[in-house]
Amino acid sequence: MKTYHADEKGYYGKFGGAYIPEMLYPNVEELRQRYLTIMNEASFKDEFDQLLRDYVGRPSPLYYAKRLSEKYNSRIYLKREDLNHTGAHKVNNTIGQILMAKRLGKKRIIAETGAGQHGVATATVCALAGIECIVYMGEIDIKRQAPNVARMKMLGAKVVPATSGSKTLKDATNEAIRDWINNPIDTHYIIGSVVGPHPYPDMVARFQSVISEEIKWQLKEKEGKEDPDYVIACVGGGSNAAGAFYHFLDNEKVGLIAVEAAGKGIHSGESAATSVLGNDGIIHGSRTLLMQTEDGQITEPYSISAGLDYPGVGPLHAHLYESKRAEFISITDDEAMTSGLELCQLEGIIPAIESSHALAALQQKEFGADDIVVINLSGRGDKDLNTYIDYFKL
Ligand SMILES: *Cc1c(COP(=O)(O)O)cnc(C)c1O
Repeated sequence: MKTYHADEKGYYGKFGGAYIPEMLYPNVEELRQRYLTIMNEASFKDEFDQLLRDYVGRPSPLYYAKRLSEKYNSRIYLKREDLNHTGAHKVNNTIGQILMAKRLGKKRIIAETGAGQHGVATATVCALAGIECIVYMGEIDIKRQAPNVARMKMLGAKVVPATSGSKTLKDATNEAIRDWINNPIDTHYIIGSVVGPHPYPDMVARFQSVISEEIKWQLKEKEGKEDPDYVIACVGGGSNAAGAFYHFLDNEKVGLIAVEAAGKGIHSGESAATSVLGNDGIIHGSRTLLMQTEDGQITEPYSISAGLDYPGVGPLHAHLYESKRAEFISITDDEAMTSGLELCQLEGIIPAIESSHALAALQQKEFGADDIVVINLSGRGDKDLNTYIDYFKL
């Protein structure tokens, strides 16, 4: 049967794999050899499920958005990842990875973060597990994201500034990789999206797949059938989309819509619309689509939402794009902000600006009155209040 899941070597079509320096090989290989066995152990599943339930607050509701549905003349459901502990889907993955790290006997966690959301989700689970946490973050991002830096510190993490290059996410990633090479025995690197060398994209997608697992039984209860007509999710690296799509990937009757950030316009030079602007290359250890110059230097991406401001997409999404299994659309800052405010006023829910991009698909696409459309609401908007207020001059 045709499948859109990773093969044994971590390839999605021609994308994926593990392109890593030799010094990282022992770390990545240990994880590759053991991740599936560990994830399939009953004791692992029990502990993961119990924490998702009692700590994260899962299952997250599948909410029928009545007023939004009336406005767009369709049956629109919101998957409420915004109600998770820490305010977004990212914690599903960090819980999974901290349990993995414990099973692998690791005593130290490293992570990199751009906007600080993944850093906070990682610091949270390290506190929960009582494990040392070091988060690398670009010096400029530390200044831009002060509240998240404060959160990480409150949670006991050490935030280390990356002072080289552009002092942003990619420089923080370089520092984290350097640390991992120097600490191959006792350290686990928690990557925050479906990116990086195999097995990370597959492992992270599996941890996030709880989203579509729940959508199936929740829709069955509400609509009498498990499969929606469409699932819509925003894509930065692609982890919330991977989780929302996961159990529908091989069922081509379910339309998948991936929403990227067009920033100030796809061709404005200030955008993060990787599928349109990117081409084949290697970033963070995997072959995928990325925004780069003719010389292969990574282009600095831009989006009003910090979580979509990433120059690549994970290899699963590169393959979904090339194979046309998913439809990729891009949404500008202005379109996203308008849809974010609309959700506030129609449904009383303040979405993360990332999630507002997914909502804005309703402005571009028309759905049938009987179509069941599930939009993954990846996070809540508390972190974005200042951006909304400045934008709308509220
Ligand atoms: C980080 C983040 C994203 C983007 O990351 P993906 O890996 O593409 O899901 C989207 N929404 C929210 C709320 C985030 O915090």
